Amino acid sequence: MSQTYDISCDCGHVKMTVRGEPKLSLYCHCGSCRELYAADVLGLTGWDEENVDLPDDSKLFHHKTDGKEMHRYGCPKCGMTMYGRHKPGIPVIRHNVFRKNNGGKLPSELAPALHLFYGERVLDIDDDLDKCEDGSAVGL
Ligand SMILES: [Zn+2]
Ligand SMILES: [Zn+2]
Repeated sequence: MSQTYDISCDCGHVKMTVRGEPKLSLYCHCGSCRELYAADVLGLTGWDEENVDLPDDSKLFHHKTDGKEMHRYGCPKCGMTMYGRHKPGIPVIRHNVFRKNNGGKLPSELAPALHLFYGERVLDIDDDLDKCEDGSAVGL
């Protein structure tokens, strides 16, 4: 069964629709994500381009890290980050965005499968998921 996720920011200014299954769902511990999102660990999903109706750029703020092709986009009114664009080159949406639009819970089919770039971590995680020291588990 194909899922459809209607997502909006906290204030409702930015909306987007995501369909189908994510290409990946994981926790990223890389230094670049840490810098871009200002979070110690990033829970994220990645999607095929055609499965995401992205908002028009004119509705979004755009934040880019210094010297890297790491981008994040969000609502200029409430400040909520809606998606990112970085490796592996597909739209990336944080678990947190789905939680906020699903009564505080991550939809079970979007559950993360592993920890990526665990070798770059600043926080040790004691769970049963695989820990990949680098990006090789998703071909990075
Ligand atoms: Zn907003
Ligand atoms: Zn990362």
